[in-house]
Amino acid sequence: MSMNKEGRPTAAGAVTAIRTAALLPDEPLLFEIGDREHSGVDLPEVEIGEDRLGGFGRRTSLDLAGLTEPEAMRHYVRLSRLNMSIDAGMYPLGSCTMKHNPRLNERMARLPGFADVHPLQPVSTVQGALAVMQQLSDWLMTLTNTAAVALSPKAGAHGELLGMMAIKAAQEARGEGHRRVVLVPESAHGTNPATAAFLGYSVRSIDARADGTVDVEAVKAALGPDVAGIMLTNPNTCGLFEPQVIEIADAVHAAGGFFYCDGANFNAIMGVVRPGDLGIDAMHINLHKTFSTPHGGGGPGAGPVVLSEALAPFAPLPFLRRNGDGLELVEHVEGEALGRITAFHGQMGMYVRALTYMLSHGGDGLAQAAKDAVLNANYIKARLEGTFSAPFGGQPCMHEVLFDDSFLEGTGVTTLDFAKALIDEGFHPMTMYFPLVVHGAMLIEPTESESLQTLDRFCDVMLELASAARAGDAERFTAAPHAAPRRRLDETRAARQPVLKWEEAEGRAEAAE
Ligand SMILES: *Cc1c(COP(=O)(O)O)cnc(C)c1O
Repeated sequence: MSMNKEGRPTAAGAVTAIRTAALLPDEPLLFEIGDREHSGVDLPEVEIGEDRLGGFGRRTSLDLAGLTEPEAMRHYVRLSRLNMSIDAGMYPLGSCTMKHNPRLNERMARLPGFADVHPLQPVSTVQGALAVMQQLSDWLMTLTNTAAVALSPKAGAHGELLGMMAIKAAQEARGEGHRRVVLVPESAHGTNPATAAFLGYSVRSIDARADGTVDVEAVKAALGPDVAGIMLTNPNTCGLFEPQVIEIADAVHAAGGFFYCDGANFNAIMGVVRPGDLGIDAMHINLHKTFSTPHGGGGPGAGPVVLSEALAPFAPLPFLRRNGDGLELVEHVEGEALGRITAFHGQMGMYVRALTYMLSHGGDGLAQAAKDAVLNANYIKARLEGTFSAPFGGQPCMHEVLFDDSFLEGTGVTTLDFAKALIDEGFHPMTMYFPLVVHGAMLIEPTESESLQTLDRFCDVMLELASAARAGDAERFTAAPHAAPRRRLDETRAARQPVLKWEEAEGRAEAAE
């Protein structure tokens, strides 16, 4: 194992260091630690005279693992340590924007006036909460230069659904419900075609150009009287700003369609570009990506949708309205508004966190964060480009950098193997095999939160892994991760046939090892 001057392991020695120091080797199930004959608490036997349960008293045992409170607590704490998280290390998952979640956001969201607010409280008692929603709405509309915003969608994909429902409603109101096709570039996030299909549209795919962007001529060729609109991600999932986005918007509008923009990558342009100026009609913003709230199994999402003038009348209920000195929530209207798309008013805790992030950065700070995110991604690109193959490398990237797997040709190592080897080095893998437009994609998004030192350590590890793969050390990759408690799981089977209940006879069920 190699060490540097401070005695810390260098990249080449990191596997050994992690193996002894990081993840716990295994954690049994609760039922394997405790047994069902005992209970975690001792209660004296009681003589029950009169049956007050109407004969519904339990006759069989509780069937829980009998553990004391500290035993149960330690089990869950040990499990929690098996998680990779943004608080534990860099998490360069492209498209997912795993940025640091400032603790100030959490402090604000936990203020009792926000944390304990109930959606059925009288409106006069929640004016502060409504003011937060109003202010957040103002920021979102200002940052995007749009006419309206619907806060309530609970994720990006949910926002897409709402935006496309608004487009559908607007077209039906114009007597153009026959428009049944949605254009989706092949580099799109999977949620885009899924959303269109969910609403009964058929999807017409648009090929990417050799440089990874969408060609306005290809869009024009696909437009027609049957087309409801386009769903375009900008910056796109190759990490590139669509250079013809305005021409594409004009062409779609001229053909009577609407422009849905997938704004999940707003982190790259917030405070710098206003999507309304590009001609979008609807766009979701992932508060849980751009505005730093915990996500990815770690917290709820929020996917507010901004709307153009044309779509504003179709915003869903409820919406906020000024009423004298105060604010009210409009829950019923006559006319075109869509109904509710979620119970109550959306994710209050996320609104507080996102607004805290906005206010603590200020408009200039948000622009700086976007520029730093782009700078960080380009730094990684510049350091890795000579070794890794960047299919669209002739141009600067935005907030994420895309490599394909041609640098691994002939090594016997795949993108999957490479990503698993990164786990041994203490890094969460990058996004793999997405977007589909390049072979064996590796999509890396460092976000603005990472320091130069962290970026350098990540790049050192990436370069060291690449040279190990090329030097023929395939075993290090194909058998990885070595340092995690499990090797390779059959994730498809685990998702399709989840084993959610412990059965004594089967004992421990595992998808695969
Ligand atoms: C994350 C993401 C989505 C979906 O957002 P969710 O909140 O996960 O539903 C859609 N499009 C792109 C480009 C994304 O990165």
